[in-house]
Amino acid sequence: MNESTGRETLGFQTEVKQLLQLMIHSLYSNKEIFLRELVSNASDAADKLRFEALAEPGLLGDDPDFRVRVEYDQKAGTITVADNGIGMSRDELVENLGTIARSGTAEFLQQMTGDEKNDARLIGQFGVGFYSAFIVAEKVVVESRRAGLPAEQGVRWESEGQGEFTIETIERDERGTRVTLYLKSGEKEFLDGLRLETLIRKYSDHIAFPVELDDVGDDEKKPETVNSATALWTRSRSEISDDEYREFYKHLSHDFSDPLCWSHNRVEGKRQYTSLIYIPGNAPFDLWNRDAPRGLKLYVQRVFIMDDADQFLPLYLRFVKGVVDSSDLPLNVSRELLQKNADIDAMRSALTRRVLDMLSKLAKNEPDNYATFWAAFGEVLKEGIVEDPGNREKLLKLMRFATTRSEGDKRDQSLEDYLGRAAATQDKIYYLLAENYATAVASPHLEKLREQGTEVLLLYDRIDAWVVDHWEEFEGKKFADVTREQLDVSEGGESITQQALNDEHKPLLKKMRAKLKDRVEAVNVSRRLVDSAACVVTGEQDLSPQLRRMLEASGQALPESKPILEINVGHPLVSRLAAESDDRRFADLSNIVLDHALLAEGAQLDDPAQYVRRMNQYLLDIEQG
Ligand code: ADP
Repeated sequence: MNESTGRETLGFQTEVKQLLQLMIHSLYSNKEIFLRELVSNASDAADKLRFEALAEPGLLGDDPDFRVRVEYDQKAGTITVADNGIGMSRDELVENLGTIARSGTAEFLQQMTGDEKNDARLIGQFGVGFYSAFIVAEKVVVESRRAGLPAEQGVRWESEGQGEFTIETIERDERGTRVTLYLKSGEKEFLDGLRLETLIRKYSDHIAFPVELDDVGDDEKKPETVNSATALWTRSRSEISDDEYREFYKHLSHDFSDPLCWSHNRVEGKRQYTSLIYIPGNAPFDLWNRDAPRGLKLYVQRVFIMDDADQFLPLYLRFVKGVVDSSDLPLNVSRELLQKNADIDAMRSALTRRVLDMLSKLAKNEPDNYATFWAAFGEVLKEGIVEDPGNREKLLKLMRFATTRSEGDKRDQSLEDYLGRAAATQDKIYYLLAENYATAVASPHLEKLREQGTEVLLLYDRIDAWVVDHWEEFEGKKFADVTREQLDVSEGGESITQQALNDEHKPLLKKMRAKLKDRVEAVNVSRRLVDSAACVVTGEQDLSPQLRRMLEASGQALPESKPILEINVGHPLVSRLAAESDDRRFADLSNIVLDHALLAEGAQLDDPAQYVRRMNQYLLDIEQG
């Protein structure tokens, strides 16, 4: 390290190195976005300083008017994006531009395949940011000074994007950050005033601060403001084009692709605020990380207050991006204050409704886009059934399922579709829980229902086991699990009691029960089977096997519970069992029938070796006649 300047060369974190390479490769056909990303960062830096200056006005010094300046220098072959925002200290610079703090990044980067389209989409989910500079630059120099620090504590960062960067302390008169791109020889096309102006208008018009363009080679020409420099959400809806809304979304979310829809509203009355909320088109890679930052960007009277204000929407809407700008919250509002505040609770309810209404509209008017939404976020939205009873009916309308009538594992049927097809006499909504689609669609439990034309919802998302515990009813119809003991499949017809059915086969049931007593609660004659010999069902009060597995996986100790075995008395294997006089063979076959019923519903056998032994013995017995 150099004594006087502290100059040192440091390596990028591995993830940064990978990201850099992938980004340069996969975003090459969108290379112009570097400008949007850098201007976006500059604007965020101004927002942050304006916020800090609320408490400490001295930070602004004699330079109170924020602006972003884009300079280009044809002779030097450089483009510079300079701001007078918050700036960075030496430590911050090393941290921010040398590492990626989001957890799960390494795993995420491993999904990259080298296929340009796929990788561009993935990187889009990640957000591109500062590093996009290296798509067009062979060298990037960042000079910065944190607001409030003296001139001697400026700092200079330099890198060729190849794995390391150097950092040194410099004297810097101004606060804020200058990012200078030394363009690669093939990228000099960007050194053109008109081109840059067009790009700024296209991508950064909505930036709330003036973005000035300056040709440093031309002393005659003064820097010129080229954007409209008003916060987008403060303008009236009719003045804003769809493209402007989309660009603003990208600035806000760091998402690379277009949002599916948005909703922009001004609320007047007791509480006054403006909100602009978006539904993204694809899931961020850390959607399932409960600690990942989420929430809206909060402004108070157009002053940026904080990112990720998570009090304005419930957790199950964590995919929503947007801005809320309040006219009546105090400027010094803190996260603590947001947490216990009746006004915020009211805003949260209103915003939640707004999101759900926006989704209903999307579902109705743009089913294809809704399908995209559902594929990305459906599982998250389902959490709302559990978390938000007040909106349950609305949420249920937004759910989409695969059913015994849908095509393949497409989840595109709504409950309204389902009820529209159901017989007038059907008073329940039938569903089946399973580990995956293949298990669901082949489940023995569906046989009779299928035969009589009763449609069944097939549920195989992880969260479903939890959802069905809470969803109760829809449009006056109760939900019914087709794997429960007391399922009545005699829709409209006569129903005979289980007892009466069992009575006809008493000796067989009794004998089986005796052989299987350690493994099953009871053995019953089934009404729901057609082709299969047997299935297992769950007692009315017991946990579903799916919920049980989920709870056990999370480390909960649960009291043991045994399933009920149902047998199809019309099945040849069961007839054979009834006719079996050899006691050992009867026991083996009874166990095999049970094991098969368990396997068919995707369960794991407690003792697979035992099963194999019995099965082998049974096959040999057949061979010997
Ligand atoms: P993101 O903006 O998505 O956080 P970036 O890679 O673009 O990711 O930037 C990383 C961090 O570097 C930012 O979060 C910010 O703290 C800091 N940063 C980048 N540009 C600037 C700037 N012009 N002024 C101050 N800080 C900046």
